[in-house]
Amino acid sequence: MRVVLADVKSSHGFVSKDTVVGGYGSRLEPFSRVTRVISHLKQRYHDVPSVHMAYLAAILAQWGHEVRWTRGELVDGDVAIVLSSLVDYRNETAWADAMRARGTKVGFVGITASKMPELFAEHADFIVNGEPESAIQRLARGETLSGPVTSEAVADLDTLPFPRWDLITTAHNGGFREPRWVTRPAGGGIPLLASRGCPEFCTYCPHRILAGYRARSIGNIVDELQQLCVRIPRPYVIFRDPLFTEQRERMVALCDEIQARGLTLTFEAETRLDRLDPELLDKLHAAGFRAMSFGVESVAPATLKRSGRRPIPEEHQRLIIDHARQRGIVTAAFYVLGFLQDDWQSIAATIEYAADLGSTFAQFKILTPYPGTPMFKQLQPLLTETDWEKFDGYTPTFRHPNLSEVELRYLLGAAYRRFYMRPSYLANFLKVRNTAVRRWVSRMDARVFDRHARMEMVEMSRPVTC
Ligand code: SF4
Repeated sequence: MRVVLADVKSSHGFVSKDTVVGGYGSRLEPFSRVTRVISHLKQRYHDVPSVHMAYLAAILAQWGHEVRWTRGELVDGDVAIVLSSLVDYRNETAWADAMRARGTKVGFVGITASKMPELFAEHADFIVNGEPESAIQRLARGETLSGPVTSEAVADLDTLPFPRWDLITTAHNGGFREPRWVTRPAGGGIPLLASRGCPEFCTYCPHRILAGYRARSIGNIVDELQQLCVRIPRPYVIFRDPLFTEQRERMVALCDEIQARGLTLTFEAETRLDRLDPELLDKLHAAGFRAMSFGVESVAPATLKRSGRRPIPEEHQRLIIDHARQRGIVTAAFYVLGFLQDDWQSIAATIEYAADLGSTFAQFKILTPYPGTPMFKQLQPLLTETDWEKFDGYTPTFRHPNLSEVELRYLLGAAYRRFYMRPSYLANFLKVRNTAVRRWVSRMDARVFDRHARMEMVEMSRPVTC
C-alpha cells in the first residue's frame, strides 16, 4: 500500500503544529515591528518537522508499506494521513478534499481531530481519536479504518520504532554549521520525545488531555540519539516533552549515558524551573544542553493557583535563570496574558517581571481556552470568537471581565516591545557577562522604559507599568 503522510504547510503567518500547544498549533501573524522580526526568525529556526508523522512513517515502513511525504503537494496514494491542527484546519480539509477527488482515502490524526472531529467529518474517511500510533499500526496490518477510530495510547513507549526522518524530510539538517549567536541551527533540529503527556494540572494546558504521562527508558532514548549521531554529525536535538526534567534521577542517568557512549550532540528542552537545580543544570550542560524553555505565565502566584498551576518561588526562578546565563544556556520564558484575575496593572506587573527576570527570550500569548481543557469548560459561556482558526494564542477569544479586546491586544504588543526593545535584551542575547557593562545596560533600560511609557500615554492614556 502507498501511504501519503501530509503536514500541510500554511499559506500565511508562522504556523507551528505537531507538539505546539499540545498539537492544536499556533499561528503568529505579525502585528508589530517586533513580532515581524520574531516571525521571520521563527520561520528560519523553528520550523521543525513533525515527530508524530515520523513515528507513523516508521510504523508503516516496518510493515512494508511505501511512504510518500508532502507539505501540501497532491501525491498519488491509496491512503493519506493528515496531521490536523486547529489554527489551519481549513487548509488541511481543502487538501483532503482534493486528495479524495483523486480517489485517495483520507484520515486525520492529532489532538484537533481527536477533540473536534466535527471540523473534519465531511472531509475524511476516518478520524483517529487519541495518540495515532495504535490505529496506524492496525492500518499497517491491513485493517480498513473508517469513521471515528479510537486509538489507545501506547503504554510502553519503548515498543515504538524510532522516527524515520529519512522518509518525511530531505537531508534534514545534514551538515549544518552552528551560527555564532544562536543555539538552534537554521532549519531547526531533530525533535525527539523522551516522554509524553504531563503529570501537572494546569487547567489551560492541552498537553495533558490526550493521554497520561509516560516516559521511555534511558537506554531506548540514547539508542535513538546514537542513531541520529551516526546519520548527522553533531545533531541538534529538540526534546519536545512537555516536562523534560520531570524526574531528576532519569535526567542524571540520561546525561551519564550520553557521555558514557561518547555522543557529541547539543540539545534543548522544555521544562518547569522547579524541576531544575544548579547541579542538574551543570550535568545537563556537560551532556550538551544549550537551550531551555519554561512557563512563568504570570507574576501573581494567586492567579496561577486559580488555574491549577503550582507557582514557583521567585528566588528559585532567578537562581536557575542566572545559573543558566552563567553557563551560556539560552533561556526562553513563556507568559500568558489575560487570566480571569488579570487587569491592566497585573499584566503590566507580569511584563515588568519578564524584563527584570532577564531570560534570553520571552513569548507572550493571550489566554486561550482550548477545547478539551478544564479552562475551556469554565470559559465557554464567555466565548466571543466563533472562528476556531483564531484560537491561535494571539487573538482574544472570550469576554474578559476586566479588559477589552483592544486593551488585551495592546498589552500583548506592549509586552513584546518592552521585552525586546531594551538594551539588556541585546546584552542577554549576546551573552554579555561583564558586571560593569551589565550595570550600564540596566541604566539604559530605565531610560528606554521611560520612552515606552511616554508612548503608551499618547496611545492609551496610561503606561504599561505597575
Ligand atoms: S506544567 Fe502545566 S503548562 Fe506545562 S505542560 Fe504540564 S500541564 Fe502543561
